[in-house]
Amino acid sequence: MKIYIDGKYYDERTAKISVFDHGLLYGDGIFEGIRAYHGRVFKLKEHIDRLFCSAKAILLDIPMTAEALMKAVVETCRRNKLRDGYIRLVVTRGIGTLGLNPNRCKNPSVIIIADKIQLYPPEFYQKGMEIITVPTVRSLHSALNPAIKSLNYLNNILAKIEANNAGCEEAIMLNAEGFVAECTGDNLFIVKEGKLLTPPLSAGALYGITRKVVMEIALASGLEVGEPNLTRYDLFNAEECFLTGTGAELVPVVKIDGRLIGNGRPGPVTRRLVNQYHALTKTSGEPIYD
Ligand code: PMP
Repeated sequence: MKIYIDGKYYDERTAKISVFDHGLLYGDGIFEGIRAYHGRVFKLKEHIDRLFCSAKAILLDIPMTAEALMKAVVETCRRNKLRDGYIRLVVTRGIGTLGLNPNRCKNPSVIIIADKIQLYPPEFYQKGMEIITVPTVRSLHSALNPAIKSLNYLNNILAKIEANNAGCEEAIMLNAEGFVAECTGDNLFIVKEGKLLTPPLSAGALYGITRKVVMEIALASGLEVGEPNLTRYDLFNAEECFLTGTGAELVPVVKIDGRLIGNGRPGPVTRRLVNQYHALTKTSGEPIYD
């Protein structure tokens, strides 16, 4: 595997960053997870745009233009002969000193890894998964805004550990007011009275790119889409529920906190959206090969 670091390509064994990088020392950096389907990078521009928004929010100067970054992502896929897979794009604050001060980090580092990913077992996609609400709440906007896709994922990791300890692979995170925010690595949707609903970004959800794609597909096929605040009660009484994420794609949810959702099987709206999403990935994206 060839890994891009700051303009050069390294073998997996030699692809290393400094122990003084503030990405490692403090989680000071940002990232994106991007998918390639059928030899195209899906929604590349959207991911790059979000990366630049995260960078702006943490006052990090990405040392490349958006165009150069997009070319580097495509080139990394090409060098790894990737047609279908997952790309991790990371920008760290760079090498500094042991103190917190980010001004000591003169050169942010850009890392691109193009690999494969399988987040959940195949049966989750066919039969649906069970998830639970966990005690760890989503970070406050005024503390660390959940819209920033930062390298500091401990909030999500703690929630994931709580889910794992309870025998589940994903967790619903509420915000400090008790409204549903999202899951540890996925956005959440429900179907209620035929409408597709997902928590508003202000509730503490990431501006999910799969979330946006699903909302666009749903609107185009005549579904009503809303972003109200949702409580656990709303989830329990939903007709259908599913999660979205670049890595996870669309995963049906059939049980929440011990309550069956709908009839306990992936519902018709979810199944239709899954098919429409995969159809879109066949025709859309930045070509990797000429
Ligand atoms: N929420 C969180 C916390 C995430 O980390 C992610 C990405 N894995 C998502 C939602 C889904 O976002 P996207 O569809 O852009 O991958």
